[in-house]
Amino acid sequence: MAVAVVNYHYVRPRSGRFAALNGITPDAFAAQLDLLVPAVAPQDVRDGSGYAFTFDDGLVDHVAHVAPELERRGARGFFFVSTASWEGRVLAVHKLHLLMASVDVSQLRAAVGGSVDTVQARAIYRYDDAAAAELKFLLNRVLAPEDRERVLSALFAELLGDERAAARELYLDADACRSLSDRGHVVGLHSHTHLPLVDLDDTTLRTELETNAELLRAAIGERPRTIAYPYGAFDGRVKDAARDVGMELGFTTVRGHVHAALDTLELPRIDTNDAPGGKRPAPEFALARDG
Ligand SMILES: [Zn+2]
Repeated sequence: MAVAVVNYHYVRPRSGRFAALNGITPDAFAAQLDLLVPAVAPQDVRDGSGYAFTFDDGLVDHVAHVAPELERRGARGFFFVSTASWEGRVLAVHKLHLLMASVDVSQLRAAVGGSVDTVQARAIYRYDDAAAAELKFLLNRVLAPEDRERVLSALFAELLGDERAAARELYLDADACRSLSDRGHVVGLHSHTHLPLVDLDDTTLRTELETNAELLRAAIGERPRTIAYPYGAFDGRVKDAARDVGMELGFTTVRGHVHAALDTLELPRIDTNDAPGGKRPAPEFALARDG
């Protein structure tokens, strides 16, 4: 018995203001779902057999294009939301994506400056080309959070304009979370501002999780019990903090199958690209249904 938990971010048509956002189209998503259903229900993710689905970052895509397709097939998913997006802020990770979808990557890389361990960058961002991997690594893993915010906010304001308007276009809101929860999906934590949790001091780490949990509780009417660690970054201290705020399941981005013997706060996932019907399907995840 094993479950391959397939993870998604953007699921949107290749049209509109940020047409180049790197994700999959609703048609490709629907075609992949057809290969992977019937799905393991969220509550059975630890001891089922087959595929389950998670969606990170609280994007409007998830109510517009994802939930209806899941429901049409009798499936439900996990949706992990960073609540700072509800304050009219575009999360740093998405500022970068929106900039990369609008401006030449080498131009952005030059504007940010600095040096990078290229091998490590490419190992972490294996789905990106070299310039994009370097840029993401530099911003997400090398620069201090305040420096990253400053650099990205300046570029965003200069090149893309009003952050509040972009946030409205990009994110689902509290009512949408409530609706997802009411329809049987699981809404979980993704930290309040989507920072790499391993880099935070104890107080900030606790505040990131507690603020996120409390805003989601107010939205959906019950305290969430599931988290996906932003950037997949976790360690023992992060897991302890997650447990302390009531988390029972924690998803990483380590590749593998979920089964009952695993630490419940360290559950692996696979990217949509690795699953059957993805861009680079990995053979070890093709037969999870029989595993
Ligand atoms: Zn995320």
